[in-house]
Amino acid sequence: VHWINCWKEIMSAYNYIDHEYDVVVVGAGGAGLRATLGMAEQGLKTACITKVFPTRSHTVAAQGGIAASLSNMGPDNWQWHMYDTVKGSDWLGDTDAMEYLAREAPKAVYELEHYGVPFSRTEEGKIYQRPFGGHTTEFGEGPPVQRTCAAADRTGHAILHTLYGQSLKNNAEFFIEYFATDLIMDEDDACQGLIAWKLDDGTIHRFNAKMVVLATGGYGRSYFSATSAHTCTGDGGGMIARQGLPLQDMEFVQFHPTGIYGSGCLITEGARGEGGYLTNSEGERFMERYAPTYKDLAPRDYVSRCMTMEIREGRGVGKDGDHIHLNLNHLPPEALAERLPGISESARIFAGVDLTKDAIPVLPTVHYNMGGIPTNYWGEVLNPTLDDHDIIQPGLMAVGEAGCASVHGANRLGSNSLIDLVVFGRAAAIRAGKVVDPSAPNQPLNMKSVEKAMDRFDKMRHLDGEIGTAELRLEMQKTMQSDAAVFRANDTLKKGVDKMGSIADKMSDLKVTDRSLIWNTDLMETFELDNLMPNSLATIFGAEARKESRGAHAHEDFPDRDDKNWRKHSLAKVDGSKVVLSYRNVGTKPLTTEKEGGISLKRIAPKERTF
Ligand code: FAD
Repeated sequence: VHWINCWKEIMSAYNYIDHEYDVVVVGAGGAGLRATLGMAEQGLKTACITKVFPTRSHTVAAQGGIAASLSNMGPDNWQWHMYDTVKGSDWLGDTDAMEYLAREAPKAVYELEHYGVPFSRTEEGKIYQRPFGGHTTEFGEGPPVQRTCAAADRTGHAILHTLYGQSLKNNAEFFIEYFATDLIMDEDDACQGLIAWKLDDGTIHRFNAKMVVLATGGYGRSYFSATSAHTCTGDGGGMIARQGLPLQDMEFVQFHPTGIYGSGCLITEGARGEGGYLTNSEGERFMERYAPTYKDLAPRDYVSRCMTMEIREGRGVGKDGDHIHLNLNHLPPEALAERLPGISESARIFAGVDLTKDAIPVLPTVHYNMGGIPTNYWGEVLNPTLDDHDIIQPGLMAVGEAGCASVHGANRLGSNSLIDLVVFGRAAAIRAGKVVDPSAPNQPLNMKSVEKAMDRFDKMRHLDGEIGTAELRLEMQKTMQSDAAVFRANDTLKKGVDKMGSIADKMSDLKVTDRSLIWNTDLMETFELDNLMPNSLATIFGAEARKESRGAHAHEDFPDRDDKNWRKHSLAKVDGSKVVLSYRNVGTKPLTTEKEGGISLKRIAPKERTF
């Protein structure tokens, strides 16, 4: 009776508004908008919920471009793109998903062009493409390829604006500045919808949907220094963890070689694609020593480690010898103005550098999360069991950086994220078109699940402990930065695991000072911290357990890749401060055989990753 009374009190304390849709997409970044557009184009009644205005989503910051083998600047084909992606992933990506990505990429980019993305152009009027790290010809044997399609250095900006306009044109409905807090599951654990809090008036919205698509982006803000927006708080991963579902390959966190020293603001890899190069305190172009073939365009994990090694060995620049120089001042100023206008501005504002004259001070900075919510290449969320690794979680999809299809495996190649967003956003829409019946009625929401979500909401709102949200967040970010870093070791990882466990335990001792429901940033940041925490825990526990080095996971006590024992995806179920790890096989089966025009299995068999 007491419990029922408490519940009645909570329910009556909030003002509810109900909605019914075929599909609800959470997130209006590149992935969310591409999925929304694809769903709406097919006539599915589609809502897109976003905590920030769509064109302010983190994708807007993507500079360098989007990979697709269009062959506009020289020979290229999808098999070379696939090979580079397999090698880039350090053989942890799923083969079917990587094939799907590389094959569908040109189609997805031409669609963007036809939707109106203002790509930069070649003399003949074709889409301009630039070189990017790890993208090569002849299955890694030939010179770097120009595969990255660019709209100057504002490619994400161009894509977001176009997709938002097209989604509106196709009657998708937007719920802007709504914060999704929790999923609603039916009695059989199928997803039925979600709860969202409207930030400007405090109303609570119950969304009933036949399909929910999580496109909530990455969780870069688990770390102290990140190139990602402050909104990248892994909210989708948090919602998944609270349903007892696993997160996959979370230990693989990409450090981008060229975050501006001090601010973390990104200088795109396109800068090195256009001819920029790194130097140490001796003025040496040290990447020539580490990667004689790819040089400064070796993949990000590798360049980041080389930079860290130079700094460790006393060849860093600056008064503390703790960073590296990126040189672009040898390039013609007109080329910089035309191809890299955005980073010219970033260098001036964030480093006080005129890049036509001086080198930019840079440092490896957290940039991308390879891990996320496990899905197949249609974006359907997987809930693997011991016996069956591919059980589909009904009613739920995940795309973009929030998802893990897995195409990036242990390390993502530059410009392969934007293409992942549009290829898999599009794939999710194609799949939803097959599995969602717009004529079927929505099932009534499971009120037990709604109650559970609202109980959490109310508890968070009334937290009355001793610690401020910003204080605990900082403690988490600093721990992740120092103990799950570019280089990792047994002792620091062990220390990090213990520390993160006790940091997570302090969540119940948080104090939310503002109890209101309107523009309550204190409460919203507390929800975000509650989402960051399971992402961080899965990352550091997964890293501590993985006794090998692969892609972005560079373990000093286990410097070699160990395919026999560790060529497997990790799965982390997080409950409070507890993490239970299990593993799942890497998909090694391509979609097409060599006879059907696919890539030969011999070609993509694991081998040493050299540059
Ligand atoms: P996001 O763009 O992060 O969008 C997430 C969406 O989810 C937002 O709309 C947000 O409002 C919404 N959301 C999140 N939580 C909630 C919630 N609780 N309730 C409601 N809404 C929510 N990749 C490339 O391929 N090429 C590049 O040139 C490139 N440049 C980059 C430059 C920078 C500085 C950075 C940091 C990354 C770059 N990347 C690049 C990577 C790429 O930009 C990202 O991986 C990609 O944009 C992620 O897109 P997304 O759609 O998954 O998520």
